[in-house]
Amino acid sequence: MELSIPQEVIERLRAASRVTVLTGAGISAESGIPTFREAQIGLWSKYDPTELATPQAFARNPRLVWDWYAYRREMIQAAQPNPAHYALVDLEQHYEHFTLITQNVDGFHWRAGSREIIELHGNLNRVRCFDCGVPAPGWDEEGELPPICALCGGYLRPDVVWFGEGLPEQKLRQAYRAAEQSQVFLSIGTSAAVQPAASLPLISLRSGAFLVEINPEETSLAIIADYWLQGPAGKILPLLLQHIAGEEQASEEDT
Ligand SMILES: [Zn+2]
Repeated sequence: MELSIPQEVIERLRAASRVTVLTGAGISAESGIPTFREAQIGLWSKYDPTELATPQAFARNPRLVWDWYAYRREMIQAAQPNPAHYALVDLEQHYEHFTLITQNVDGFHWRAGSREIIELHGNLNRVRCFDCGVPAPGWDEEGELPPICALCGGYLRPDVVWFGEGLPEQKLRQAYRAAEQSQVFLSIGTSAAVQPAASLPLISLRSGAFLVEINPEETSLAIIADYWLQGPAGKILPLLLQHIAGEEQASEEDT
Protein backbone atom coordinates (compact mmCIF):
# COMPACT_ATOMS: atom_id res chain seq x y z
CA MET A 1 0.00 0.00 0.00
CA GLU A 2 1.35 3.39 -1.04
CA LEU A 3 1.40 5.80 1.89
CA SER A 4 0.62 9.41 1.32
CA ILE A 5 0.12 12.24 3.77
CA PRO A 6 -2.94 14.45 3.26
CA GLN A 7 -1.99 18.03 2.40
CA GLU A 8 -4.04 19.44 5.27
CA VAL A 9 -2.03 17.43 7.80
CA ILE A 10 1.22 18.77 6.40
CA GLU A 11 -0.07 22.35 6.38
CA ARG A 12 -1.36 22.14 9.95
CA LEU A 13 1.94 20.75 11.15
CA ARG A 14 3.88 23.42 9.29
CA ALA A 15 1.77 26.22 10.73
CA ALA A 16 1.73 24.98 14.33
CA SER A 17 4.05 26.07 17.10
CA ARG A 18 2.53 23.84 19.79
CA VAL A 19 2.51 20.15 19.10
CA THR A 20 1.74 17.33 21.51
CA VAL A 21 2.39 13.66 20.82
CA LEU A 22 1.03 10.65 22.70
CA THR A 23 2.58 7.26 22.07
CA GLY A 24 1.44 3.81 23.13
CA ALA A 25 2.33 0.14 22.77
CA GLY A 26 2.03 0.19 18.96
CA ILE A 27 5.18 2.24 18.49
CA SER A 28 7.16 -0.28 20.57
CA ALA A 29 5.59 -3.22 18.78
CA GLU A 30 7.33 -1.94 15.64
CA SER A 31 10.63 -2.54 17.48
CA GLY A 32 9.56 -6.13 18.01
CA ILE A 33 8.55 -5.65 21.63
CA PRO A 34 5.67 -7.98 22.40
CA THR A 35 2.71 -6.60 24.27
CA PHE A 36 2.16 -7.30 27.91
CA ARG A 37 0.32 -10.53 27.21
CA GLU A 38 2.33 -11.70 24.20
CA ALA A 39 5.43 -11.57 26.40
CA GLN A 40 4.09 -14.29 28.68
CA ILE A 41 5.97 -17.23 27.23
CA GLY A 42 7.98 -20.12 28.67
CA LEU A 43 8.45 -19.88 32.39
CA TRP A 44 6.13 -16.90 32.54
CA SER A 45 3.19 -18.36 30.66
CA LYS A 46 1.55 -19.60 33.85
CA TYR A 47 1.40 -16.11 35.33
CA ASP A 48 -1.22 -13.50 34.58
CA PRO A 49 0.57 -10.17 34.01
CA THR A 50 -2.23 -8.28 35.71
CA GLU A 51 -1.41 -10.31 38.83
CA LEU A 52 2.32 -9.65 38.61
CA ALA A 53 2.13 -5.91 38.01
CA THR A 54 0.57 -5.00 41.34
CA PRO A 55 1.88 -3.75 44.68
CA GLN A 56 0.18 -6.75 46.32
CA ALA A 57 2.14 -9.18 44.15
CA PHE A 58 5.39 -7.44 45.02
CA ALA A 59 4.60 -7.46 48.72
CA ARG A 60 3.78 -11.17 48.50
CA ASN A 61 6.69 -12.28 46.36
CA PRO A 62 9.16 -9.48 45.60
CA ARG A 63 11.67 -11.79 43.93
CA LEU A 64 9.12 -13.15 41.45
CA VAL A 65 8.01 -9.69 40.38
CA TRP A 66 11.60 -8.46 40.22
CA ASP A 67 12.57 -11.41 37.98
CA TRP A 68 9.63 -10.77 35.70
CA TYR A 69 10.75 -7.19 35.16
CA ALA A 70 14.36 -8.34 34.67
CA TYR A 71 13.11 -10.65 31.91
CA ARG A 72 11.17 -7.84 30.24
CA ARG A 73 14.13 -5.46 30.62
CA GLU A 74 16.39 -7.95 28.83
CA MET A 75 13.92 -8.28 25.99
CA ILE A 76 13.83 -4.51 25.60
CA GLN A 77 17.58 -4.14 25.80
CA ALA A 78 17.99 -6.69 23.01
CA ALA A 79 15.71 -4.58 20.76
CA GLN A 80 16.27 -1.12 19.26
CA PRO A 81 14.26 2.06 18.86
CA ASN A 82 12.76 2.22 15.36
CA PRO A 83 12.41 4.99 12.73
CA ALA A 84 9.26 6.28 14.47
CA HIS A 85 11.17 7.00 17.69
CA TYR A 86 13.94 8.74 15.76
CA ALA A 87 11.50 10.77 13.67
CA LEU A 88 9.98 12.15 16.88
CA VAL A 89 13.41 13.31 18.03
CA ASP A 90 13.78 15.24 14.76
CA LEU A 91 10.19 16.50 14.76
CA GLU A 92 10.77 18.17 18.13
CA GLN A 93 13.41 20.42 16.54
CA HIS A 94 10.74 22.10 14.44
CA TYR A 95 8.63 23.38 17.32
CA GLU A 96 8.92 25.95 20.04
CA HIS A 97 6.58 23.91 22.22
CA PHE A 98 6.71 20.18 21.73
CA THR A 99 5.54 17.68 24.33
CA LEU A 100 6.08 13.97 24.04
CA ILE A 101 3.84 11.90 26.29
CA THR A 102 4.22 8.13 26.38
CA GLN A 103 2.35 5.28 28.00
CA ASN A 104 5.31 2.98 27.35
CA VAL A 105 7.72 1.95 30.07
CA ASP A 106 10.47 0.63 27.78
CA GLY A 107 12.57 3.81 27.56
CA PHE A 108 12.88 3.69 23.74
CA HIS A 109 12.16 7.40 23.36
CA TRP A 110 15.03 8.14 25.70
CA ARG A 111 17.36 5.74 23.85
CA ALA A 112 16.43 7.34 20.53
CA GLY A 113 17.44 10.76 21.92
CA SER A 114 14.25 12.43 23.12
CA ARG A 115 14.90 14.17 26.42
CA GLU A 116 11.70 15.99 27.31
CA ILE A 117 9.38 13.04 27.84
CA ILE A 118 6.38 12.67 30.09
CA GLU A 119 6.49 8.97 30.96
CA LEU A 120 2.97 8.54 32.32
CA HIS A 121 3.50 4.94 33.40
CA GLY A 122 7.14 5.27 34.45
CA ASN A 123 10.16 3.46 33.06
CA LEU A 124 11.21 -0.08 33.87
CA ASN A 125 14.86 0.79 33.43
CA ARG A 126 14.65 2.84 36.62
CA VAL A 127 13.99 1.70 40.18
CA ARG A 128 12.77 3.26 43.37
CA CYS A 129 12.17 2.09 46.91
CA PHE A 130 8.97 0.17 47.57
CA ASP A 131 8.85 1.59 51.11
CA CYS A 132 10.18 5.16 51.04
CA GLY A 133 9.66 5.84 47.33
CA VAL A 134 13.07 7.43 46.77
CA PRO A 135 14.59 6.65 43.34
CA ALA A 136 17.87 4.71 43.37
CA PRO A 137 20.63 5.60 40.91
CA GLY A 138 21.26 1.97 39.95
CA TRP A 139 21.57 -1.57 41.26
CA ASP A 140 23.64 -4.71 41.09
CA GLU A 141 21.85 -7.54 39.30
CA GLU A 142 24.46 -9.99 40.65
CA GLY A 143 23.75 -9.23 44.30
CA GLU A 144 20.74 -9.90 46.47
CA LEU A 145 17.46 -9.47 44.58
CA PRO A 146 15.46 -7.38 44.79
CA PRO A 147 18.22 -4.94 45.72
CA ILE A 148 17.92 -3.00 48.95
CA CYS A 149 17.29 0.74 49.35
CA ALA A 150 20.40 2.42 50.74
CA LEU A 151 18.26 4.86 52.72
CA CYS A 152 15.74 2.66 54.51
CA GLY A 153 16.55 -0.97 53.78
CA GLY A 154 13.30 -1.53 51.86
CA TYR A 155 13.20 -3.41 48.56
CA LEU A 156 13.81 -1.59 45.31
CA ARG A 157 11.02 -1.97 42.76
CA PRO A 158 10.69 -0.98 39.11
CA ASP A 159 9.71 2.67 38.71
CA VAL A 160 6.49 1.91 36.86
CA VAL A 161 2.82 2.43 37.60
CA TRP A 162 1.20 -0.82 38.66
CA PHE A 163 -2.44 -1.86 38.51
CA GLY A 164 -4.27 -0.25 41.38
CA GLU A 165 -1.79 2.62 41.61
CA GLY A 166 -2.52 6.18 40.55
CA LEU A 167 -0.57 7.96 37.85
CA PRO A 168 1.95 10.53 39.09
CA GLU A 169 -0.10 13.71 39.68
CA GLN A 170 2.43 16.17 38.40
CA LYS A 171 3.11 14.31 35.16
CA LEU A 172 -0.59 13.94 34.56
CA ARG A 173 -1.15 17.67 35.07
CA GLN A 174 1.66 18.47 32.63
CA ALA A 175 0.15 16.08 30.10
CA TYR A 176 -3.33 17.61 30.43
CA ARG A 177 -1.90 21.09 30.01
CA ALA A 178 0.05 20.08 26.91
CA ALA A 179 -3.09 18.49 25.44
CA GLU A 180 -5.15 21.62 26.12
CA GLN A 181 -2.60 23.99 24.63
CA SER A 182 -1.66 21.99 21.55
CA GLN A 183 -2.55 23.13 18.05
CA VAL A 184 -1.80 19.71 16.62
CA PHE A 185 -2.09 16.50 18.60
CA LEU A 186 -0.64 13.26 17.24
CA SER A 187 -1.88 10.05 18.79
CA ILE A 188 0.45 7.21 17.80
CA GLY A 189 0.06 3.48 18.29
CA THR A 190 -2.27 3.66 21.23
CA SER A 191 -5.57 1.89 21.52
CA ALA A 192 -6.88 4.99 23.29
CA ALA A 193 -8.72 2.68 25.63
CA VAL A 194 -6.80 3.04 28.89
CA GLN A 195 -7.71 5.97 31.09
CA PRO A 196 -6.58 8.56 31.92
CA ALA A 197 -4.20 8.65 28.93
CA ALA A 198 -7.12 7.98 26.59
CA SER A 199 -8.71 11.29 27.52
CA LEU A 200 -5.71 13.33 26.34
CA PRO A 201 -6.61 13.32 22.62
CA LEU A 202 -10.22 14.15 23.53
CA ILE A 203 -9.11 17.09 25.67
CA SER A 204 -6.97 18.40 22.84
CA LEU A 205 -9.84 18.07 20.39
CA ARG A 206 -12.21 19.91 22.71
CA SER A 207 -9.64 22.69 23.08
CA GLY A 208 -9.55 23.15 19.32
CA ALA A 209 -6.52 21.08 18.35
CA PHE A 210 -6.19 19.32 15.04
CA LEU A 211 -6.15 15.64 15.92
CA VAL A 212 -4.25 13.08 13.87
CA GLU A 213 -4.36 9.39 14.66
CA ILE A 214 -1.49 7.21 13.40
CA ASN A 215 -2.19 3.52 13.76
CA PRO A 216 -2.30 0.43 11.56
CA GLU A 217 -5.44 -0.62 13.43
CA GLU A 218 -8.69 1.25 13.58
CA THR A 219 -9.37 2.58 17.07
CA SER A 220 -12.27 4.55 18.51
CA LEU A 221 -10.10 7.66 17.98
CA ALA A 222 -9.81 7.06 14.25
CA ILE A 223 -13.48 7.95 13.94
CA ILE A 224 -13.34 11.28 15.74
CA ALA A 225 -9.85 12.38 14.67
CA ASP A 226 -9.49 14.94 11.89
CA TYR A 227 -7.37 12.36 10.11
CA TRP A 228 -6.53 8.73 10.62
CA LEU A 229 -3.25 7.87 8.93
CA GLN A 230 -3.42 4.12 8.62
CA GLY A 231 -0.06 2.38 8.72
CA PRO A 232 3.02 1.79 10.81
CA ALA A 233 4.39 4.88 12.59
CA GLY A 234 7.89 3.86 11.48
CA LYS A 235 6.83 4.59 7.89
CA ILE A 236 4.42 7.49 8.40
CA LEU A 237 6.45 9.67 10.78
CA PRO A 238 9.64 9.79 8.67
CA LEU A 239 7.44 10.71 5.68
CA LEU A 240 5.70 13.46 7.65
CA LEU A 241 9.06 14.80 8.72
CA GLN A 242 10.28 14.90 5.12
CA HIS A 243 7.30 17.04 4.12
CA ILE A 244 7.74 19.45 7.02
CA ALA A 245 11.51 19.76 6.62
CA GLY A 246 11.16 20.10 2.84
CA GLU A 247 9.10 23.25 3.23
CA GLU A 248 11.65 24.89 5.52
CA GLN A 249 14.52 24.24 3.13
CA ALA A 250 12.52 25.77 0.31
CA SER A 251 11.74 28.91 2.26
CA GLU A 252 15.40 29.36 3.16
CA GLU A 253 16.29 29.29 -0.51
CA ASP A 254 13.65 31.92 -1.16
CA THR A 255 15.28 34.48 1.12
ZN1 LIG B 1 13.81 3.32 50.94
